[in-house]
Amino acid sequence: MLIIPIPCLTDNYAYIINEENSKKIGVVDPSEANPIIEFLEKKNLKLDYILNTHHHFDHIGGNEELKRKFKAKVVGFKGDKHRIPGIDISLENDENWNFGNTEAKIIHIPGHTLGHICFFFEKEKIAFTGDTLFSLGCGRIFEGDHKQMLESLNKIKKLPKNTKIYCGHEYTYKNAEFCLKYDSDNTDLKNKFEKIKKLRSNNLPTIPTTLEEELNSNIFLRCDQNDLKIKLNMKNQEDFKVFKKVRDLKDSF
Ligand code: ZN
Ligand code: FE
Repeated sequence: MLIIPIPCLTDNYAYIINEENSKKIGVVDPSEANPIIEFLEKKNLKLDYILNTHHHFDHIGGNEELKRKFKAKVVGFKGDKHRIPGIDISLENDENWNFGNTEAKIIHIPGHTLGHICFFFEKEKIAFTGDTLFSLGCGRIFEGDHKQMLESLNKIKKLPKNTKIYCGHEYTYKNAEFCLKYDSDNTDLKNKFEKIKKLRSNNLPTIPTTLEEELNSNIFLRCDQNDLKIKLNMKNQEDFKVFKKVRDLKDSF
């Protein structure tokens, strides 16, 4: 499967996905239609599917225009049927959805919104995590609570370590600065920051990241680790409390 990030709005990514055997084309989280149309027309491609991780405008903004233009089918979470524009195929947690000759597993990951999902392409080890897991960050908690968000992140943590993570925004540089503030002697994090600086100074995406890199350097995925708890003066405290603390610190960073 081929994946092409398309920068949209100020810091969003939509992703064109191309299943090369069947030649099926999809787009994940098109916040606007124009950059997607431009790319597809230049490559002489049409669009079969629109995949939405959640209902926020910066993830579904292009749905209706793209659907009209290409007669594409909109794929999203069943529980959010009422707020995903143009939805045709509604899926439940743990359901598999066929995309050409491959398939994605739907993983319900509430917290940022109640109906947020991850599309996990098991064979390719590719996960679209929307605004739940970012590189070196996690999404703000708008509709769910901290417990839900932590459980959702824990679901993602159980995927294979070499899973490639494609998230909804280019927030990585700022996220790295935050992680470094509280986890400054983490060598993996420091090395990752050097890579990020180089990529961003050349205006290149820091995405995809891998789950392994995130497990080692994303502070939100390290709330169960004793070394981090000690750095936060929260030795022996519950993971959930540490996570809430880190999320609160990020909200005011
Ligand atoms: Zn969002
Ligand atoms: Fe977003």
